[in-house]
Amino acid sequence: MTVTVVVGCQWGDEGKGKIVDLMARRMDWVARYQGGANAGHTVVVGRQKYVLHLVPSGILHPKPKCIIGHGVVVDPAYLLEELDGLSTRDIALEGRLFLSEGAHAILPYHKWLETLDGQDVRVGTTKRGVGPAYQDKMGRTGIRMYELLDPKRLRRRIDEHAERVERAFRGAGIAPPQPIEAARTEWLATYSGLAHRLRGFVADTVALLAEARERGEKILCEGAQGTFLDVDLGTYPFVTSSTTTASGAAFGLGLPPSALTKVVGICKAYATRVGEGPFPTELHGEDGEALRSQGGEFGATTGRPRRVGWLDLVQLRQAVRINGVTSIVLTKLDVLSGRSSLEIATRYRADGELRSYTPTDVEALERCEPVYETVPGWEEPLDRIRRYADLPLTARRYIERIEDGCGAPIRTVSVGSGRNQIITVPSRAQR
Ligand code: GDP
Repeated sequence: MTVTVVVGCQWGDEGKGKIVDLMARRMDWVARYQGGANAGHTVVVGRQKYVLHLVPSGILHPKPKCIIGHGVVVDPAYLLEELDGLSTRDIALEGRLFLSEGAHAILPYHKWLETLDGQDVRVGTTKRGVGPAYQDKMGRTGIRMYELLDPKRLRRRIDEHAERVERAFRGAGIAPPQPIEAARTEWLATYSGLAHRLRGFVADTVALLAEARERGEKILCEGAQGTFLDVDLGTYPFVTSSTTTASGAAFGLGLPPSALTKVVGICKAYATRVGEGPFPTELHGEDGEALRSQGGEFGATTGRPRRVGWLDLVQLRQAVRINGVTSIVLTKLDVLSGRSSLEIATRYRADGELRSYTPTDVEALERCEPVYETVPGWEEPLDRIRRYADLPLTARRYIERIEDGCGAPIRTVSVGSGRNQIITVPSRAQR
């Protein structure tokens, strides 16, 4: 019986989708524990490209059953769109996908409120209503799936929210995007209909997972975004609204913390970040442009260009500690080909001191200058390499330097978006 958590070690977009997809074939369950449709996983299967926002990418394999846990905030409209997309590509969903009855719903007014209070601009959100839905959850006013399924309760809850939203717009002296009275009727009609279509998927997923554990089945917990977007442990306030770190799997799925025995950290061979917030190793100008285009660093959900930079060992070491990472998958190593040298940040210099930790205060992090170690690069493309021994020596040295610096073994390296573009890394003793 194992529960494995897959967690991003940076700011998300580490290539978790592909790795979860690879691991999922051996699993009985794949469960998503937080976030909303603000995250996107891209999985390439043969010539087909799937972009999944809410459904765990395990759905692309015949075996695992998939769960969207109560820690996720779900926009029923997006979810159904995604389900329709999967059905038209003959991916079976009945009896394989379960949506927690405790998951909170995102309704259209959440998107309105996100723009009204400027969250979208202030922290560079995806405008999908995720932040306001989590605010409602924590403020104990959210609408959960079991209420969405009950038309009487839904009417009452929508009425409450419509009044609140009206007050918010009136207070701000701004007209809502649509007159509230008309919107209220429309929300009720639309969301009752959507709920009806989702009914067959809604379940007590905490019980499903508990029973699965008792039967000794294998469970993979899939996080969205990455460690430094965690609402508590990330670069607050430039973070997402949920617990992205490994412990989020416990409370977003109702699994006991002691069950989380394996934690696989996904780390890109360089760094990227979407939206605002500090990024000590960011590359600007031509170097940044080159890395961005080589890595295809444009958001799966929004198409926004990602900020790019060198690998940051201070950050990775912290991610290993916080999440209890037991092994690392290093992704997109192929993107770094064609460089005579590479930089790795090993420490920060700030306020006249050297630091080995990322500061909690983002303003202090803004002042941090990375201290770089320059290592030799490699010219050769890596995308056709499948054996560790066939990697250029300098690429192997790069891998080892990262392991030494972060304190966790790299067990797998990814050298392309395809399912087979994977290299298993032998243990240090066997290399
Ligand atoms: P996620 O949110 O962490 O799953 O990351 P994304 O799906 O947004 O970004 C990963 C992107 O990189 C996708 O387009 C993948 O197909 C692609 N990708 C994943 N692993 C590799 C790799 O090793 N090399 C290259 N070149 N692309 C990769």
